[in-house]
Amino acid sequence: MVSESQSVFEVKDGSIAFGGNQALDKVSFAMEKGQLIGLIGPNGSGKTTLLKIIMGVLTPDKGTIEVLGKPPFQSVKEIGYMPQLTPFSRDFPISVEEVVLMGRLGKTSSIGFFNKDDKRAAEKSMDDVEILELRKRAIGSLSGGQLQRVLIARALTCEPKIMILDEPTANVDMKIEKDIFDLLKRLNEKITIIVVTHDIGFISQYIHRVACINRTLICHPTSELTGETIENMYGTHMHMVHHHHEDEK
Ligand code: ADP
Ligand code: MG
Repeated sequence: MVSESQSVFEVKDGSIAFGGNQALDKVSFAMEKGQLIGLIGPNGSGKTTLLKIIMGVLTPDKGTIEVLGKPPFQSVKEIGYMPQLTPFSRDFPISVEEVVLMGRLGKTSSIGFFNKDDKRAAEKSMDDVEILELRKRAIGSLSGGQLQRVLIARALTCEPKIMILDEPTANVDMKIEKDIFDLLKRLNEKITIIVVTHDIGFISQYIHRVACINRTLICHPTSELTGETIENMYGTHMHMVHHHHEDEK
C-alpha cells in the first residue's frame, strides 16, 4: 500500500527488547519528505536500534514500520546508510574510490565487478562531497574530516531517497562538524536526511526538527527545544509528548 502522505517513513508503536532489556518502548515516529531531522539521546537510548528498524536490519517485536509506503526490506535500496563505527580498518590498503564504490554493492547488477553506472555514481558522489581529488588516496592517509566525507560519499553512491547517518560528527572537531552539517544541508535540497548527533545546541540552526529519544520518544520542533526538554530527556524523569507535523494541511 502506498501512503497518501509525504511520509518517507512511519514507525507506529514500535517496541523491541534484547533479552530482558527493553531498548525501544512504543516509539511512534514519522518523517516528512525533504526534511533534515536530528536524532538525539543519551548513550544506549535506542538511536541506533531505531535506525536499524527503519533499514529493516531489525524487526520490532511489536508495532508497524513502513518506509516509502512499503515494508522496510523492500525499500532498503533507497536508503544510504553511514554506520556509527567505521567498519574497516584504516590500515586496510584500499583507496577512497574503492570505499565509495562499496556503496553500490546493494545496487549494482554485476557480480564481482562494478560497471560504468557504478563508477559514474561513485564519481558523482565524490564530486558532491568535494573529495574527487582524493579518489586515488589510501584511506589510511586521510584526516578525520576527509574520512567522514568519504563515508558520506559511500552512503550517497546508491543514489538514495533517504540518508541515515549515525553519529557522523563523533570524534571530529567543531570546524569539521560545521563543514559536515553545511554539506548535509546542501544534500538535503534533494535527499531526506536523518542524522544522529550529540551536539544539540549546534545543530538547531541546521535541522527542521529534532527527535529526542530515551527508550521512548519525545519529539519537538527545534524552536521548542529548551533546557527543560533536554533535562527531562537526559535525566531519569521521563515524559511523553506526542509529536506533530509542522505543515499539516
Ligand atoms: P544508542 O545508539 O542510542 O547508543 P542502541 O540503539 O545502540 O543505543 O542500544 C539501545 C539499547 O539496546 C542498549 O541498552 C544496548 O545495550 C541494547 N542493544 C542494542 N543492540 C543490541 C543487540 N544486538 N543485542 C543486545 N542488546 C542490544
Ligand atoms: Mg548508537
